[in-house]
Amino acid sequence: MRIVQKYGGSSMGSVERIGLVADRVARTHALGHAVVVVVSAMQGETDRLIKLAGRLSDRPRDREIDVLLATGEQVSIALLALALRERGVEARSFLGHQVRILTDSIHGSARIQTIDAAPVHDCLDKGEVVVVAGFQGVDQDGNITTLGRGGSDLSAVAMAAAIKADACEIYSDVDGIYTTDPNICAKARRIDRISCEEMLELASLGAKVLQARSVEFALKHKVAICCKSTFDESGGSWVLPDAGTLEGMDMAGLEGAVVTGVACDRNTARFSVSDIPNRPGAAAALFQPLADDAINVDVIIQTAPRDGRCELSFTVPKGSALRTRQLLDRLRPQMGFGAVTIDDNVAKVSIVGAGMRSQPGVALRAFQAMGQAGIDIQLISTSEIKISMVVDDRFTEAAVRVLHDAFALDRAGGGR
Ligand code: ASP
Ligand code: MG
Repeated sequence: MRIVQKYGGSSMGSVERIGLVADRVARTHALGHAVVVVVSAMQGETDRLIKLAGRLSDRPRDREIDVLLATGEQVSIALLALALRERGVEARSFLGHQVRILTDSIHGSARIQTIDAAPVHDCLDKGEVVVVAGFQGVDQDGNITTLGRGGSDLSAVAMAAAIKADACEIYSDVDGIYTTDPNICAKARRIDRISCEEMLELASLGAKVLQARSVEFALKHKVAICCKSTFDESGGSWVLPDAGTLEGMDMAGLEGAVVTGVACDRNTARFSVSDIPNRPGAAAALFQPLADDAINVDVIIQTAPRDGRCELSFTVPKGSALRTRQLLDRLRPQMGFGAVTIDDNVAKVSIVGAGMRSQPGVALRAFQAMGQAGIDIQLISTSEIKISMVVDDRFTEAAVRVLHDAFALDRAGGGR
């Protein structure tokens, strides 16, 4: 098989840990697999470099910042390749530009355009392990670029797509994706298989395990990802682009569950704008300045108009609340709406599951569970595979547990 393995900062945290990573790579190689390893900088290194730069400059998107940050991964690939050679495994390290991970020129959050897999195939054909620096690429003009924080996941998934790997294994210090945050709900259970689209909706659960952009890429390019622990052979969660991807794999888990996980986002502020004159274009006029300011508006609810006026509620990230308030204050005289109220002690709790599409009554079950627990729901919004409820933040943890219980997510085969 052709396998891409990605090891993150914590797996590369010390010389001893790099030794453990090398052992694992060597074992995979000894089984006869062709292995491409993508690595992150050693734990804390990227933060250290960012701080260093911050003492001399406050331009986060500068070309030179990318030159600086890319050094973290350069250290990692060299150390890992050395450790592999020490174990008798022929290994060769590559920087982003050497495998030509071609990106656009947006420093700090570049997008991958193409990968020239030829040098990788040459090494694999010779039986060598290929070690590639994550998080970095090169633009048309030869400038070093970086892909945004956590970007090594994206490098790994893109590499897997480029060499048509059978699997892309993402190693970290947790052994997979959980039905909810185990710190909030002790009954959280590791999920065996989850679809990319569910994973994207559950981003707040998976953010630490998997960078959202890498999941988008996997969905688009049909890459199967397996999240595993570096330090534990068992476990693991598959994140799959669609139900038919892995031949011979029992997809019952994917097909059978109605709800796959419960996510919560405490970085939420709720706005309510009252007495908005209800005329065509009113909502557009209200949200235009927020969009111009790149404010990420989420749950949006409008009440049915009464006496020509309606009320609109929506959420934004807490950090955007002040700016949103200023923009609305500026807009009020010209649009003629009433009071604006803000509550930043709220959280958004969501249940996610692809099975909701074909199963009625899921929302009702969630609402009943919340009601029985005495949790009032301030706003509700639904998509095909997600139901989000905005609640007072003091209920967040209770809401997560209640919903986890209501769909029996603690049980294998739960979520029905
Ligand atoms: N080293 C980079 C970071 O800390 C990339 C990564 O770890 O994926 O964000
Ligand atoms: Mg990471």
